[in-house]
Amino acid sequence: MNGKKQKISDLGIFSGKPAFPEKIHVGRPNIVNRKGFLDRVNTILDNQWLTNNGPFVQEFEKRISGLIGVKHCIAMCNGTIALEIAIRALEMTGEVIIPSATFIATAHALQWQAITPVFCDIDEKTHTIDPKQIEQMITPRTTGIVGVHLWGRPCNTEAIQEIAQKHHLKVLYDAAHAFAASHNGKMVGNFGDAEVFSFHATKFLNTFEGGAVVTNNDVLADRIRLMKNFGFKGYDNVIYIGTNGKMNELSAAMGISSLDKLEEIISLNRDHYIQYRDNLKSIPGISCISYNEDNHPNYQYIILELDEQQLLLSRDQFVRILHGENILARRYFYPGCHRMEPYSSFFPHAGLLLPNTDKVLSRVIVLPTGTAVTHDDIDIICELMRYIVSHRKKIREILSDE
Ligand SMILES: *Cc1c(COP(=O)(O)O)cnc(C)c1O
Repeated sequence: MNGKKQKISDLGIFSGKPAFPEKIHVGRPNIVNRKGFLDRVNTILDNQWLTNNGPFVQEFEKRISGLIGVKHCIAMCNGTIALEIAIRALEMTGEVIIPSATFIATAHALQWQAITPVFCDIDEKTHTIDPKQIEQMITPRTTGIVGVHLWGRPCNTEAIQEIAQKHHLKVLYDAAHAFAASHNGKMVGNFGDAEVFSFHATKFLNTFEGGAVVTNNDVLADRIRLMKNFGFKGYDNVIYIGTNGKMNELSAAMGISSLDKLEEIISLNRDHYIQYRDNLKSIPGISCISYNEDNHPNYQYIILELDEQQLLLSRDQFVRILHGENILARRYFYPGCHRMEPYSSFFPHAGLLLPNTDKVLSRVIVLPTGTAVTHDDIDIICELMRYIVSHRKKIREILSDE
């Protein structure tokens, strides 16, 4: 958007002309330090060291462990491989309890290595795994729990730790959304046996593709370092089964350059979040999820919950109308891992135990934010939503005519 406000009468659904001339996607990358990145790219080409634990990867790992106050950071080529390796290094087997309200990679990282993901319901308010439900899912085959800090809001790690201790379970956190956040005064990255970040292009901090495992466990860290590099310990010496999970130098250069501007991204995301929240507050049927400021969240996700009854429009109709305006709002993680293959065939009745998951995922939409979105964009998006809600009866008639 070039700052020029469109009139609300330009609504695509009525005039055939979208409010935004170009599509505004959810998950456009945060790009904040072009010069820093390009300078480092030149250094990489001068060094002729492109991958295999290069100087930028080493620096990236140090910067992250310093920021988080965690002993070990092992950078990887993406978050999914980081999850797979962490799960394997923790020797999880049999069954592992996870929320179904997550990106499919959390479940796949287990199933990929023949471990059964057992889907646990979430808390309707926090959207994270409900500790009260976890114990019911434990069987003699259960070896671990993978919690997900959904939308960057940390799980109830205290309750999860208690259950894990009682039943001798390993705990891993999928912290793909929660980089740089904290929980009760402790940085995310220090909970459970290990935590995994994703630095995918859509995430708060991106390295094009990338991820990392962080842990305070020395033995585990050594094993993970071996596993991500084919099990090599020095030249010509393989001592463990491994794979290729290495991060390359370009990715690390991108990560470091963005780390230099981390506070800038957080404060921009925070401004966007507050603008959305305050703007949408008074619209009946729409509520924006809240973040706890004390946890220094990264505010990367603008999550609305739509009340279909109050709106008289379904969540999916609402998304369609926004798409007509070139606002590519998204459903996220719908309809839940338990309703996707192969899990829906494995556990056709899993939904019976996941009422909150089904409810939450059917009313959530994600709105665009990040460095690619301006305050004017957000004003227009909010104005449009207000317009849609106040004209919902008429819109419903138009939609039902189709
Ligand atoms: C993005 C994401 C992943 C996977 O990370 P990649 O880097 O894309 O492989 C895993 N879990 C969650 C919750 C995610 O959002």
